[in-house]
Amino acid sequence: MKKRDKKRFKRKDINISNIEISHIDDFLDDEIAPDKRADKKKADKSKISNKSNMNLVRGRVIELYSNYRSLVKINDLEVICYVSGRLKQYNLETRNILAVGDWVKVEMGLKNRIEEIEERKNTLNRYTEDSFQKKIVVASNLDNAVILTSCSQPAVNFGMVDRILCAALLSDIRPVVCINKSDLLEDTEEIREEASFYEQAGFKVILCSAIDLFGIVELREVLRDADSVFVGHSGVGKSSIINVLQPGLNLKEGDVSDYTGKGMHTTTTSRIISWDFGGNLIDTPGIKTLTLHEDIKYEIKYVFPGMNELSRDCHFQNCSHIHETDCAVKNAVEAGTYDFRRYDSYCRIMESFTGVVL
Ligand code: GDP
Ligand code: ZN
Repeated sequence: MKKRDKKRFKRKDINISNIEISHIDDFLDDEIAPDKRADKKKADKSKISNKSNMNLVRGRVIELYSNYRSLVKINDLEVICYVSGRLKQYNLETRNILAVGDWVKVEMGLKNRIEEIEERKNTLNRYTEDSFQKKIVVASNLDNAVILTSCSQPAVNFGMVDRILCAALLSDIRPVVCINKSDLLEDTEEIREEASFYEQAGFKVILCSAIDLFGIVELREVLRDADSVFVGHSGVGKSSIINVLQPGLNLKEGDVSDYTGKGMHTTTTSRIISWDFGGNLIDTPGIKTLTLHEDIKYEIKYVFPGMNELSRDCHFQNCSHIHETDCAVKNAVEAGTYDFRRYDSYCRIMESFTGVVL
């Protein structure tokens, strides 16, 4: 290399000046570019605070205002807390640092700082729509995912139930199948018959109505003292059911899980609302369904109701139950011992993964 070139390539000293970014908390999460180098830092480290000897108090994140600012319930007080600088510097596997439902340890002071996020027992996730599909934790530490469909207007959608049920099970959240608007059917026999598949597989199925209140007591018992999220397409009656469960809430129709269009990120944040009868509603606007991530396509056969049990008799150990010969699931469908409607639904879920190789 010529001397002149060497000079050109000589590393310059870089002055890192203290650039102040005011109101970073007001930035939309989307506008904060992920720090790729930070990805390499171990996420586990952030869980252990070097301030563990300090006087930290435990609380639960009940609402997010930004990636760094949240409302935390500590005993019966609701206080605004900030993510500590130490937690901020770790870019976890997920795009957001905090999630509604997180149990955190806070150092109380002029500015209350969240120093620790306790390990989550489960998470409800969505993924960015770009090709990176980066995970966003919508809520954490949930007990129930109430999968809501309606008997009519819109027509019952068990395919949607299957998708969400698998997603909930894969996230370690208990699914509850809830079929609303029973008042619109003169005869519920057909729906009950189709839904009995889930009962036989050990899941709770509740037929209810926000109009004549049929099944509401049963639903309330499932929700009592538990943390539950409602998922289901718009119009099935989520807001109506929630208003009936707790009349004082006055959620406007469409308030719950209002999704403004495909590809749009919601700007409304999730929040936790306490039920008067004990337990919490995890309200997640923008979430109508639980996402089945591409990575878990091969796990679905293990959680799809009734399938794993049958698969022991499949000829191939890793049988996908789709194109293989001597498949116990397909044989059961043919023999009428496994509901063909659910098998169809399974095939549709598998087909829906782009580029799936079976
Ligand atoms: P969301 O979009 O899931 O929150 O649904 P809404 O609660 O806004 O309800 C959608 C529509 O269905 C409204 O016109 C409600 O009045 C109606 N609706 C909700 N629950 C029931 C029900 O149990 N029976 C009948 N007949 N209509 C209902
Ligand atoms: Zn098989």
